[in-house]
Amino acid sequence: LRASFSLIKDDHENPTGLITVLQDVTEQEAIEQERREFVANVSHELRTPLTTMRSYLEALADGAWQNEELAPRFIHVAQNETERMIRLVNDLLQLSRLDSKDFQLKKQMVNFTKFFDQIIDRFEIGKGDHFIFERAYSQRERFVMIDKDKITQVLDNIISNALKYSPEGGKIRFELVQKENNLYVRVTDDGVGIPKQDLAKVFDRFYRVDKARSRKMGGTGLGLAIAKEMVEIHGGQIWAESEEGKGTTITFTLPLEKEREEDFS
Ligand code: ADP
Repeated sequence: LRASFSLIKDDHENPTGLITVLQDVTEQEAIEQERREFVANVSHELRTPLTTMRSYLEALADGAWQNEELAPRFIHVAQNETERMIRLVNDLLQLSRLDSKDFQLKKQMVNFTKFFDQIIDRFEIGKGDHFIFERAYSQRERFVMIDKDKITQVLDNIISNALKYSPEGGKIRFELVQKENNLYVRVTDDGVGIPKQDLAKVFDRFYRVDKARSRKMGGTGLGLAIAKEMVEIHGGQIWAESEEGKGTTITFTLPLEKEREEDFS
């Protein structure tokens, strides 16, 4: 329901009454409203890097290109902004494919323990000198039916956030827990954390706690929104727990496959 109020006044501007109009906002309208907001957000997100690039290119054209110290720095900024725009457009394409259901899940039986290890290995090789990686799970096999590319992206987004929002030297903890028929995949960092009131919103498209910080780290504000959709199409859930200044835990679930002998006979 949407409510609008109009005040009725007499000739002396004294209020004498109030008209209240209650309107039923249909689901269709809500979707339309969401779509408009999304387009406005996308336009804004694209304009920011473009205007930055324009001013640096203008400065170069106006003579900075001859300055040996400034020119490489300005070109570097333009390159970074281009990279971020490419990431943004790629993320948008992902989301639009997910929205239009124009995708196929290539599900296969995967031992998640081994799969998780390989993804963590990749980050550890790249960032092992700057962070401590703690694997808090046993090497037993845990089977799930997943599209490996999609869940790789979910983990990439969650782990790169843990690194982005943590101080150098921070610890990233990885856990796997089996409860009933679900596998709980958990990534914990000891970084800046997320304020309580923002915990649910960080999965919304373009929502960021600190816009400037996210931009500086090259973020698009879409990583967790994509992760959420991908987890949900696998029949799982995702959520965040956090204490400001202490750290953040992102958990998602995946339905476990029963490894019954007869399935393989
Ligand atoms: P971004 O590209 O901005 O990182 P995401 O969708 O991945 O976008 O995350 C949305 C927001 O959630 C981030 O801007 C950040 O404010 C917050 N966030 C996500 N992960 C973490 C984390 N591990 N620690 C602190 N804040 C986080």
